Amino acid sequence: MTFQAQWAEASAAVEAAQKILIVTHVNPDGDAIGSMLALALALREQGKQVTTAVDGGVPDFLGYLKDSGKVIGRLKRGHFDLMVSVDASDEERTGIAGAFGRRRSQRVINLDHHPTNTGFGDIHLVLPEAVSATEVVYEWLSRMGHPLSQPIATALLTGLVTDTMGFRTSNVTATTLGIAQQLMQAGASLTEVTARALVARSYSTIELWKRVLPLVRLEDRIISGVVAQADLAAVGLVDVTDGGLVSLLASVQEAVIAVVFKETREHRVEISLRSKPGYDVGTVALSLGGGGHTQAAGATIDGPLEAAIARVMPLLRVAAGVGAAA
Ligand code: AMP
Ligand code: MN
Ligand code: MN
Repeated sequence: MTFQAQWAEASAAVEAAQKILIVTHVNPDGDAIGSMLALALALREQGKQVTTAVDGGVPDFLGYLKDSGKVIGRLKRGHFDLMVSVDASDEERTGIAGAFGRRRSQRVINLDHHPTNTGFGDIHLVLPEAVSATEVVYEWLSRMGHPLSQPIATALLTGLVTDTMGFRTSNVTATTLGIAQQLMQAGASLTEVTARALVARSYSTIELWKRVLPLVRLEDRIISGVVAQADLAAVGLVDVTDGGLVSLLASVQEAVIAVVFKETREHRVEISLRSKPGYDVGTVALSLGGGGHTQAAGATIDGPLEAAIARVMPLLRVAAGVGAAA
């Protein structure tokens, strides 16, 4: 099917549906919640009955987005005419909410921008050249002729700002800035979105970094850090996070790849990967059962930590051009 036909089919599916469920990826970021809420706001304006759900709900720092309070953290009931998955490259990433929704929905639209998208679902709105899932939602809304209200524009700008780290990633083009301009003209505040969704961090993040930074290593142009459960517990953080440490490590001039290994409560290991242009961590993440983009990717693999590190570092050496291919 041509792309044109996919847009038309997606719009027709929405038109025919009354009860619509929107889900996104677990551990949601600004793009996940921004694309979910922008679409939800628009579809509600179109008179649809919209349910939004992601395991664990919306992180506090995204609470400024309109209707964030309506997002369900534990989806347990409902039947839907249509489910839309946003910003998730594979079905597993949509968690319990996605699995439940899949069983209770007649059709599934897969709206995403990850080049590693597995092509799940019935209708595919997957644009790998889009900088964020909110860019795909923006494109869809403009094709539907849906006007940009201020809350919709704010949610869309949030995904644009967070996934591009404030318009700094290598995929940002004049078109990206043109969309941002449209969103600002519709009333979104770049200052506020940047401050809340990108810059603000809690003091516990600094406490976490104080523990983790002394053990950061730079070897073979790969800079690596480890966040163990004990580190998170010591600073009172419940969710598995590096607080953005991987971006800090990726800024190091001497490194071409940055990696942070994060231990989950179940002793699995979440891996965050970043690379400089010319180096591909997306393929590495995909080979580990995860996904992402060329320059920012991730995966969750079996622990313990030491085993995960021993498994991943040789793959990264190959990606960094310093190791022999297996
Ligand atoms: P993060 O390091 O969590 O900011 O993630 C960077 C990129 O990798 C994002 O595009 C994520 O969607 C993707 N990603 C992270 N973890 C996973 C995973 N377990 N499976 C698939 N994609 C992932
Ligand atoms: Mn995301
Ligand atoms: Mn995204």
